[in-house]
Amino acid sequence: MLIDLRSDTVTRPTPGMLKFMFNAKVGDDVFKEDPSINELEKKAAALFGKEAGIYCPSGTMTNQAAIKVHTQPGDELLCDVTAHVYNYEGGGIAFNSGVQTKLIPGDNGRFTAKQLEQALHPYADWLPHTSLVTIENTSNRGGGAYYKIKNVKEISQECKKNKLALHMDGARIFNALAETGESPKEYGKVCDSISICLSKGLGAPVGSVLLGSNEFVAKARRVRKLFGGGMRQGGYLAAAGIYALDNNIKRLKEDHQRAKHIAKILGNKSYVMNMLPVETNIIIFSLDASMPAEKFTGELKKNNILVSSIGNNALRMVTHLDFNDKMLKVVEKTLKNL
Ligand SMILES: *Cc1c(COP(=O)(O)O)cnc(C)c1O
Repeated sequence: MLIDLRSDTVTRPTPGMLKFMFNAKVGDDVFKEDPSINELEKKAAALFGKEAGIYCPSGTMTNQAAIKVHTQPGDELLCDVTAHVYNYEGGGIAFNSGVQTKLIPGDNGRFTAKQLEQALHPYADWLPHTSLVTIENTSNRGGGAYYKIKNVKEISQECKKNKLALHMDGARIFNALAETGESPKEYGKVCDSISICLSKGLGAPVGSVLLGSNEFVAKARRVRKLFGGGMRQGGYLAAAGIYALDNNIKRLKEDHQRAKHIAKILGNKSYVMNMLPVETNIIIFSLDASMPAEKFTGELKKNNILVSSIGNNALRMVTHLDFNDKMLKVVEKTLKNL
């Protein structure tokens, strides 16, 4: 039995999901003729109270397409120092959009409206034109920390005041909503665009959806084609997304409970330092000099447990759909002996 805690992207489709995928009705989506993709886009948009959605192969593509639509070359984008769009998308902000980034030092991936205000500059011919703010909810490198809608509303107001677009990288937005109990529509109201991932905690093998107004999504369709993401009978994959939205949202709290359980065990280890607060399904911590990361990961590997090494003797574990209580017991026993 392999216990893979490197990421929540390692899940495999369940028999129920596979059956649903095999029965999907499909067509050519570049001609907008794939009924399953159309259904997924409509469903996701309705969930967040947005006019439209566009299905893409990855969350990198939905984020980068959003940035491309919201900006012009030479513009400036504001995001947190840990942001996925800046750190883990291959330098795409500069490469795809010719946009420069100003980083805000937030609290585990989240910044406040006040910090945003302080990062803005007045108009001058020689200053870059700021056009876009992106927030990440939950924050990946912030250890799964989530925003409260109150703070996002304040950020949105600051954006409106300064005529800036607001994009939310909601790769794990459903993990955030599982904890706050807030409605996705609240986020739809205050964000101009939202990217959601189906291939993380929701357990689909592929896919993300970018949500926004009809006008925004029409532009994003052009960008998706330009990026090479226009798929044909992609409905077989979109069906997995429909199944994920229908079946795998409610159970996310289980992942959070298991992550908190692991965090508690780690918290009792003398060699574990600087664990970020575990709010959802991500556990990030570092080890002191007595326990090199290679030794720790090596010992876990002997018990078929995989975790990610993220540099500076720090590690990351992520719980997900394919990690159950039986596996949790094995992790517990292994950690207790280490
Ligand atoms: C995973 C992730 C993405 C998108 O990643 P893909 O692997 O391209 O689907 C975007 N933002 C965050 C915060 C993520 O964790």
